[in-house]
Amino acid sequence: MIITNTRGTQDILPADMMYWHHIETTARSIFNIYHYQEIRTPIFEQSELFERGLGNDTDIVSKEMYTFLDKGNRSLTLRPEGTASIARAVIQHPQLTKHNQAKLYYCGPMFRYERPQAGRFRQFHQIGVENIGNAHPFTDAEVISLGLHLFDELGIPGLSVSINSVGCPVCRPVIQERLKQFIGNTLKHLCGDCNRRFDQNPLRILDCKNDTCRTYFTGLPDIHKSLCHDCKDHFNSVVEYLDSLGVPFDIDPKLVRGLDYYTKTTFEIVSDKLGAQNALCGGGRYDNLVRKMGGKDTPAVGFAFGVERAVMILKEFSEIVKREDPLIFVAPIGFNQQTRCFHLMNELRRAGLKCEMDYSKEDLKSQLKIADKMEASYCLIFGEEEAERNEIILKDFKKRSQDSHPIDHIVEILTQKITPQ
Ligand code: AMP
Repeated sequence: MIITNTRGTQDILPADMMYWHHIETTARSIFNIYHYQEIRTPIFEQSELFERGLGNDTDIVSKEMYTFLDKGNRSLTLRPEGTASIARAVIQHPQLTKHNQAKLYYCGPMFRYERPQAGRFRQFHQIGVENIGNAHPFTDAEVISLGLHLFDELGIPGLSVSINSVGCPVCRPVIQERLKQFIGNTLKHLCGDCNRRFDQNPLRILDCKNDTCRTYFTGLPDIHKSLCHDCKDHFNSVVEYLDSLGVPFDIDPKLVRGLDYYTKTTFEIVSDKLGAQNALCGGGRYDNLVRKMGGKDTPAVGFAFGVERAVMILKEFSEIVKREDPLIFVAPIGFNQQTRCFHLMNELRRAGLKCEMDYSKEDLKSQLKIADKMEASYCLIFGEEEAERNEIILKDFKKRSQDSHPIDHIVEILTQKITPQ
């Protein structure tokens, strides 16, 4: 029986790689402008890191983690997101915050045991930024506008930003209480998850994706009225700074996001080109996470976006041009010329030219067919006659022309043709 890839995972094939490279390269260059530096953390961590960091009653921790015991009986988890690992790394490596702030970005695979569907995978990739050590609302505005700047630069259409404040440990209990009062009467109509959350973490009820439940959330009292002074001021400032930067956004009081570590600002960037799974990017402030993980009081704000979702949009709606170096196909005619061509290929590659040869074919016709399939730009043909004259034929597929050249000069001739002047 043929073994295929596991449900919820996918092979990213060479034909799609230009989108991935475009996203990764653009992200790196934008992050550099905003003075963020790359960090790479391990793909698996102690399970406790995520349990403590994300909260035990989040969907991720309670249902979606790939957790296993290693041969030393340690409970390990494939990372479901990047922020908890970065909080751990910041505590573990004090040099990261030697200027009292760390501006870090990451790219890599994440793992969640979710029901796979379009735009939702069990192994997916996130690119994210974490701005650690800054409490000023400028930071929230910077991070949100950085996200938009990046998506604009990538050429992603149909974007909109929603923001909210989920308060802090001072005002969260008040918000939770008001929510409980509002939702209490309708509880029997809500799903099992909502009922469970009602006691454990009522704010997360607003994150429920069940359509029936959502109908009961209309007319929600303005939870911003229950924010404490500090959270209210912070939220108003973020709104003001976003306005002043010209960032368009909506305030969505139901935007609570699925992770418990958020305090104050939460935000989401969606694209109307994505369909049901329209969230492209999610983030927010998490002022208590580093302390909760055993570090110092460290305010922070960040976001992550899903690379697969960005690729889906770019494939359908953008015109990224594949930029590839021209391929030179080297075609020896007959067994005797193969070794000379094999060496020539080595010289071409050392000169930085992309070339290929088929070691199993000796006749010209089948080699030209292969060159055509590979979409080669040039073919170098080397037969017995050429060997005697110390020459080689250069066939230009685009110009439909061919000429003989001294074999000793061919690398130089091709370099001049191919390398941009
Ligand atoms: P989160 O870490 O849940 O805030 O998600 C941030 C972003 O990651 C989302 O907006 C998606 O673009 C992406 N994402 C989250 N979960 C998945 C998944 N299972 N498959 C693909 N992308 C995902």
